[in-house]
Amino acid sequence: MYNADVVVIGAGAVGTAIGRELAKYKVRAIVVDKRDDVGGDASKSNSSIICSGADCPPETLESELCRSERLMIERVVKELDVPFRVCGAIMPAITQQQMDALPEIYNDAYRNHVYDVEFVSPKQILEMEPEVNPAVLGGLYIPGDAVIDPFLFVAAQAENAAENGVQFLLNAEVKDIVVENGAVERVETTAGSIKTKYVINAAGLFCDEIAEMAGERDGFVVKPRKGQFFILDKNTPVRISHIIYPIPTPESRGKLLLETVHGNILLGPTAEDLEDKEDHSVTAEELEGVERDCRRLVPNIRVQDAITQYCGLRPNRIPAGYNIGFGKKTKGYFGITGVRSTGVSSSLGVAKYVIWQFRKNGINWERNFDFSPTRKGIVRFSEQTPERKAELIKENPLYGRVICRCETVTEAEIVEAIHRCAGPRTVDAVKRRVRAGMGRCQGGFCAPKVIEILARELHVPAESIEKNLQGSYMLTGKVRNGEETAE
Ligand SMILES: Cc1cc2nc3c(=O)[nH]c(=O)nc-3n(C[C@H](O)[C@H](O)[C@H](O)COP(=O)(O)OP(=O)(O)OC[C@H]3O[C@@H](n4cnc5c(N)ncnc54)[C@H](O)[C@@H]3O)c2cc1C
Repeated sequence: MYNADVVVIGAGAVGTAIGRELAKYKVRAIVVDKRDDVGGDASKSNSSIICSGADCPPETLESELCRSERLMIERVVKELDVPFRVCGAIMPAITQQQMDALPEIYNDAYRNHVYDVEFVSPKQILEMEPEVNPAVLGGLYIPGDAVIDPFLFVAAQAENAAENGVQFLLNAEVKDIVVENGAVERVETTAGSIKTKYVINAAGLFCDEIAEMAGERDGFVVKPRKGQFFILDKNTPVRISHIIYPIPTPESRGKLLLETVHGNILLGPTAEDLEDKEDHSVTAEELEGVERDCRRLVPNIRVQDAITQYCGLRPNRIPAGYNIGFGKKTKGYFGITGVRSTGVSSSLGVAKYVIWQFRKNGINWERNFDFSPTRKGIVRFSEQTPERKAELIKENPLYGRVICRCETVTEAEIVEAIHRCAGPRTVDAVKRRVRAGMGRCQGGFCAPKVIEILARELHVPAESIEKNLQGSYMLTGKVRNGEETAE
């Protein structure tokens, strides 16, 4: 039996931000997740945008929390050493109907208190982004929108929270929330029971099921809304430097284009309403739609330079809207639902808002003045000067062993990642921390080496190393019973 003051369910963008915020107080906090890595579900398969709040539903908690994160993010990414770029966004109108929609979008930005949005002429747009469709009639410029490395954003918050005393319990699926005399008593997980006074539901797509366990379902459901993407090779010749948004419709924000913080071009996502919360398939038909729609904005984009496709499932709450607060029936239950399309952009705001709600309810934890907000990122060998590279190899010869040739990731970086707090245990988790396998060959060459390093550093057999999800083993056994091949 574990003991905690607060249990946070879910180690995605929202749960880890709350974990880090809780580390600023003298509370025993445990963040649990059913996966074997922090990073969440939707939090690791999204568009990577930190929006300024301009295009959120006007005058909502969602827009308020996105705007509040935008005020904090530049400090937080410095503290946590996370790649981030304020690139701004352009929303070009290609048809007269789209032009007619612009004033309302502009007004909504004002209603959301984002006042730096500007109307821009076709000439201005083409000066800013020469690859935009030359038929553009005008558009909006949203200077505050930015891109982030969403994997590291979440992992870094988890690491920092763990370094400050928050416990992360992984491979721990919550099966029940035991309520006694109308109050949370304990959380039952596949890794054991946790006695606690408060439970915070940050389970994303599964938050409805967690709410049900606490008797707090209150009629809402969460359905997956799938988004499929292309990622293009860094060398693709058609470049853009801003986020290029389509004009949104009431149904969807549409398919966009951007350059990620690592220099790949991202296209997507789709918006497909599903029933199955485990459907992570990508389909030719939907991806053709991504290409078609993105070409309307940037006609020369080269989808033939795609190095991978992936999808994410938005936790689509019905009825929609951010719903964050204490339960109505069960004392000690706190729910976070409705964080559908903007949960990375709002997670820091959500975490602050959670603490504020606790304070408003008279729960004033003592501050932890020992909290250290900084986390040093793993040195990226490929970004160092030749002199620094030589020094690094001298200090640690593992810097001299390049494991991922596409992204120039060395063995030293992988080993360091594995031994960090809340470190990676699977091949994909290593990929998310240091980018080994993120390049053109998508791990074709480096995955066997990563398996070897994981097995060696974790003192487990190579056959037990998984790709990502539980049971996704990559090796079935040894060829020739492990005997060396005769030379
Ligand atoms: C296609 C797409 C594009 C998007 N683009 C953007 C964007 O550009 N910018 C932006 O801000 N947002 C974007 N979003 C939305 C954003 O990704 C989500 O709002 C956000 O990631 C939600 O974070 P979360 O922590 O609530 O959920 P998740 O990341 O889903 O994490 C929830 C965690 O709960 C765990 N869990 C669930 N059930 C249990 C259980 N029973 N026991 C233990 N653990 C459990 C899961 O394993 C998971 O790790 C996009 C989403 C998608 C899918």
